[in-house]
Amino acid sequence: MSKSFEVAVLGGDGIGPEVTRQAVRLLKEIEPYLEGVTLNLQEHSVGVGEYRNSGNALPDAAFEACKQSDAILLGAMGLPNLRYPDGTEIAPQLDLRERLELYGGVRPIRLYHADDTPLKNHGEGDIDFVLVRESTEGLFFGRKSVADLDADACENVMRISRAGARRVCKLAFEVARKRDKGKKVSLIDKANVLSSMVFFRHIFDEVAEDYPDIIAEHVYVDAAALFMVRRPQDFDVMVTENMFGDILSDLAAGLVGGMGMAPSADIGDSHAVFQPSHGSAPDIAGKNVANPFAMILSAAMMLEWLDHEETRRAGAMLRAAVADVLADPSARTPDMGGKLSTQDVGDAVSRALRENNS
Ligand code: ATP
Repeated sequence: MSKSFEVAVLGGDGIGPEVTRQAVRLLKEIEPYLEGVTLNLQEHSVGVGEYRNSGNALPDAAFEACKQSDAILLGAMGLPNLRYPDGTEIAPQLDLRERLELYGGVRPIRLYHADDTPLKNHGEGDIDFVLVRESTEGLFFGRKSVADLDADACENVMRISRAGARRVCKLAFEVARKRDKGKKVSLIDKANVLSSMVFFRHIFDEVAEDYPDIIAEHVYVDAAALFMVRRPQDFDVMVTENMFGDILSDLAAGLVGGMGMAPSADIGDSHAVFQPSHGSAPDIAGKNVANPFAMILSAAMMLEWLDHEETRRAGAMLRAAVADVLADPSARTPDMGGKLSTQDVGDAVSRALRENNS
């Protein structure tokens, strides 16, 4: 029986639509290779552009379509110089995260070529880990609080709930189980200082008992930052609270070529958004120079997450095509020192797809 997957496509703002265009065209090109599976890609206008048009950055109809879809593919949203009248950022991607309970930011980090890392003596595949970031609480819990600039002090709370920690730790172990690497989950915490982290560690250990086939270890966040640079090959899956995850994600992206090389997924129990780790980069928008690899790899993650034999195969095909293009170190966009345009990268991946599957 044929299966159709509904995908809501939200290009968004800045470079979002440019990188999304390449991912969408590759998904359309891959579809004919799938047996008994169709991808119904429906685009929706969401973001600052939509706010300008209709006064609502995330219209109800678009949100409903996202809710009904099997997966959401998102480019980038928000522009620094356009905010709500109260000064807060227009960030419908964060509203989606909250309203759809997307609690786990899953960021795979992989080195495709030795030239792309600032580290010495690391080649293709030597850096290959996944960072799982808790996305609903932690130190971001107070993100909507307003600073009283006349007060004597200002504080933010690190909130770790039992349910929140449990579900994100479970997600990390599930991610590890699906990988063919070392099958290890490292909890990145600060349990030597913060009681919230002692609590997080306790819950992590409880969850780990359900996964005896997977090694569980604890690493302090400061040491983790050092180890990621000194011996990144030792990491398999890392799980951490929101703010630590935010910071370590950028460090991790820097190990493999920057934000343009870092795909990401926001995972919940019944929905998921796939988007590159980078933002809307307005400084380079509209110039056809944005690096679309992170977006294309996010689309590959989406295919794998849809969890159908054929979409999993398609995800692997797309990643293989990306790896083939990146095997040539000159095939890079300007952010990585290359000369390819956004469109050139899409064309190169498309060619590799055809060659690999002819
Ligand atoms: P956000 O807070 O929305 O995540 P940000 O302010 O941290 O965004 P980004 O928009 O991700 O920052 O990017 C910062 C800079 O990095 C950009 O201005 C751009 O120069 C560069 N950059 C980011 N993503 C890409 C990309 N895909 N291709 C090329 N350059 C990029």
